Amino acid sequence: KKLIIAIDGHSSCGKSTVAKDLAKKIGYTYIDSGAMYRVITLFAMRNNLISGDKVDENKLAHLISQVNISFQYNTEKQRHETYLNAELVEDEIRKMDVSNKVSLIAKIKFVREKMVAFQRELSKEGGVIMDGRDIGTVVFPNADLKIFMTADVEIRAIRRYKELKNKGEDISLNEIRENVSKRDFIDENRDESPLRKADDAIILNNSHLTPEEQLDWIVDRMNE
Ligand code: C5P
Repeated sequence: KKLIIAIDGHSSCGKSTVAKDLAKKIGYTYIDSGAMYRVITLFAMRNNLISGDKVDENKLAHLISQVNISFQYNTEKQRHETYLNAELVEDEIRKMDVSNKVSLIAKIKFVREKMVAFQRELSKEGGVIMDGRDIGTVVFPNADLKIFMTADVEIRAIRRYKELKNKGEDISLNEIRENVSKRDFIDENRDESPLRKADDAIILNNSHLTPEEQLDWIVDRMNE
C-alpha cells in the first residue's frame, strides 16, 4: 500500500530534511506545503499587497488565480525546486524577507483552502510524504503515519543561522531567533488551522538527534 505520511511541527526544526531523506529512501514523493505559502507570499510582495503587517486580501483574492505553483526535482543539483508560473523561485522563497511575511499570508482562509485543495490533488495516488503545519490535522486527517516534530528554539535558530550563512545571507542569530519564535506564535494562535499536534501524531523532538537518527526513528515507527 502506498501510504500518506504527514510531518507537522514548528518552524525550522528540520521537517523538510527528514521528509526528503525519507522520501528518497522509500521511493515516495516529497511535497513541501510550506513552499506553497512562501510562493503566494512572494507573489503578494511583488504585487505590493503587503504593507507592514497588513495584507490587501481583496486584491490578493482577485490575483491569486494568476498563481500557478509547481515543483520539480533538479537531478544535477539534487534538490527539489519550486516554480511560480514558469519562474524558478526556490532561492527567493527561502530568503528572510519572505520568511518574515509568510505567516501573514498563511493565516488567510481562502489562501489555505486553495493550498489544501492543491495538496490533496497532488497526493491522490498516495506514496507521499508531506510536511507542514496542518497536514495531520486538516489536509490528511486519515494519514497513515503522523509525526509532530519539534526542537528547542535556540537549537532551531542556530541550525537556521548556519544554513542561511552558508547560502551567503547576511543575517544575525538574533534576527533568526525572533523570526522563528514569531512564526511559531502566529502559526499556533491563528484562527485558521492553527499549528497543533494531531491527537494520533507521535512526537519527535530532534534537539539532540542527527538526521540519520531521525530517519531511523521514523522508519521504525513505519514498521510498528
Ligand atoms: O515550512 P515552512 O517554514 O517553509 O513554512 C512557511 C510558513 O508557511 C510557516 O511559517 C507557516 O506560517 C506556513 N505554513 C502553514 N501550513 C503549512 C505549511 C506552512 O501555515 N502546511
